[in-house]
Order: sequence, then structure tokens, then C-alpha cells
Amino acid sequence: MFGEAFVTLATNDNYAKGAMVLGCSLREHRTTRKLVALIGPHVTEPCREALHSIFDEVRSVDIMDSGDAAQLALMQRPDLGVTLTKLHCWTLTHYDKCVFMDADTMALSNIDELFEREELSAAPDPGWPDCFNSGVFVFRPSVETHEKLLTFCADNGSFDGGDQGILNSFFNTWATADISKHLPFVYNLSSIAIYSYLPAFKHYGRDAKVVHFLGKTKPWCYSYDAQSGEVVNRPQDPESGRLHPDYLQTWWRMYATSVMPLLQRAYGDQPFNSGVLEASCQEKLQQDKPGDQMPSSPTIAPPTGTAPSPRRVSSEERKQRWEAGQMDYLGDDSFANIERKLDSFLK
Ligand code: UDP
Ligand code: MN
Repeated sequence: MFGEAFVTLATNDNYAKGAMVLGCSLREHRTTRKLVALIGPHVTEPCREALHSIFDEVRSVDIMDSGDAAQLALMQRPDLGVTLTKLHCWTLTHYDKCVFMDADTMALSNIDELFEREELSAAPDPGWPDCFNSGVFVFRPSVETHEKLLTFCADNGSFDGGDQGILNSFFNTWATADISKHLPFVYNLSSIAIYSYLPAFKHYGRDAKVVHFLGKTKPWCYSYDAQSGEVVNRPQDPESGRLHPDYLQTWWRMYATSVMPLLQRAYGDQPFNSGVLEASCQEKLQQDKPGDQMPSSPTIAPPTGTAPSPRRVSSEERKQRWEAGQMDYLGDDSFANIERKLDSFLK
């Protein structure tokens, strides 16, 4: 009898750390399915070791090894390297059915019921809901489908430059054909979508099953004060504040308690007791260049108290920032403040 598995992908150490948190979150919620991590050649040995203790299977994928169709596609579209790697999930033919989850997602409850769905089931994309978001999807591994996808890729490219564009063009009846292939949004809740419809989040947010840290800034770009349990050091990026602080904290709590000990064992470091934890971060698009890696050993940074406190901004300046889409969601425009304001309106 063939099995069923959750599958994720990491081509470098940053995403590998995301994959570890995802794997731990699925274990914490007692999945009965197998866990598979596809990893690229740039994932370093200590991260591989940590992945091995969380995942049932850690499989190296090298796009150049995957046969003629893949090589052809790659030669024509060098920009689609990571995307082609993601399509590798269809080659896991020792499983009957799988659920792919991006390495920047995290399970908030048991989601094994997803295996009752058919290929290709996915949740709407918050930016264009007639497209599905490819951060969480149900699929059936098949060499034939894999080959078709690669050929499609080579012939058509991707309208968004990534896997989501290809998959939406390939599974192009998703929006209209079969409502059972529409996963509820709570199976792929983009943390940035929360603020575009806050009352809905207030009303339905407690049903969230998977959070997806979609966008340029990922949880591992922040730091974490292990003593206070607070996420600190928001990166200087206008988008960064949009990650919901509660989910960020859940991610970091999982990283600090379940992932760090594994990494420390793998690196042969001393266990940490206090201080600020960091996971490395770079611009997403540069992360795959060989020799471009940040030091991957988890570091303990100076305590939070030494960090400069943010400058106060005038209300006019704040309004301008809002209008430019640069909200300070962990500061003045924090979720709690917005919620308070909203409550006063609703009353
Ligand atoms: N990914 C990876 N290395 C990269 C970029 C992406 O392994 O350099 C994988 C990883 O599983 C990631 C997925 O591809 O979650 C999709 O990329 P990302 O989550 O960054 O895109 P977004 O969801 O923000 O559009
Ligand atoms: Mn993602």
C-alpha cells in the first residue's frame, strides 16, 4: 500500500530552518502522515542533520540530474531554477498522494483531512483569488505529470516568474471546474492578508489552520528574545510589519524550543539559556548563489536592551507612511492598536 506525505522544499539554510519549523508544527499537531523535505545542494550539513531528525525522508534534488526534459527547461529558463525544483515533488511516486507546503508555512492544527482532497486542491491567492496560491496544495505524484509540467514550463515559462504562475496555467480549470478543489482560505492564511480585511480575521481568524508568511520578509529575518518570548529587531523593510505578531511569535517559539536544540547539537554548540536568537536572512533572490550564504550557525546576539529604540514619528508623517503602504504594524500601528480602534467603531 502506498502512503501519503507532507512535502516541503528548501534550497538553502534559511528556508531549511523554515522547513524545520513547519515539520515540527506538523508533528506537534500529531500528523499520521510521513514528512518529506526536498533539499537543494546548498543546504549545509548541520541543517541536513537537523532536518533528518524531524522529517522521515530528506531527499536531495539536483535539477540537472532530473533527465532531459528538466535540463532543456532549465537551459531555456535559468530564472526558473527554484521553481523547477519545486516541481520535483511530482517525482515522489512512492507516495500515492501528497500535500505540498512552502517552507514559510506553519501548521496551527492537525490538517490531515487535506488528504481527502484530490489533485489539484489549493486555497485562493489573496492577491488574485481566481488563482490558487501554491504555498499549500494537494497533488498526486506522477512521472507523467512531472514531464508534462516541465515541458509546459519550457514552452510557456511562467507569467509571474515562479511556480505559482506555471501551476495556475497548467491546472487552469481550478477557478471554475470543481469547488471541492478550493481549499478554505484558513488552510493557507497569508499573514499579509489579515490587514486587508481585519474584521474577517477577527471573526474567522480563530479557525486558521495554516499560516503562510508570504512575501519578501520571512520570520527568520527577525530576532527573538528567548527570555521574554518577544520577537525583536524588525527588519528595515516596508513590508515587514505586515507579518502578524502573534503568528511570528508562534513561529519563533517553535524555532527556539524545538529547532534550536537540534541545530545546536548539529553544530556542536553549547545550549543557550538567554539572549536574543537570530536566524540568518538575506534578500530572497540572492539566497541560492553558491558561496553567498550567511553564517548558518545560530547566534546569540546582544540583549534587546542594547538595541536603539525607534524614533517617534509625528502623526502627519505617520499618515504619509500609511498612504505609502508603510505601516508600523509592530509599533504604533500594531494589531492591538488597530483592533482597539476597530472595536471603538464597531461599538
Ligand atoms: N524556496 C526555496 N529557496 C528559495 C526560494 C524559495 O527553497 O530561495 C522554496 C521554499 O519552499 C519556499 C517556496 O520555494 O517556501 C516558495 O517561495 P517563497 O515562500 O519565498 O514565495 P512566497 O510564498 O513568498 O511567494
Ligand atoms: Mn511561501
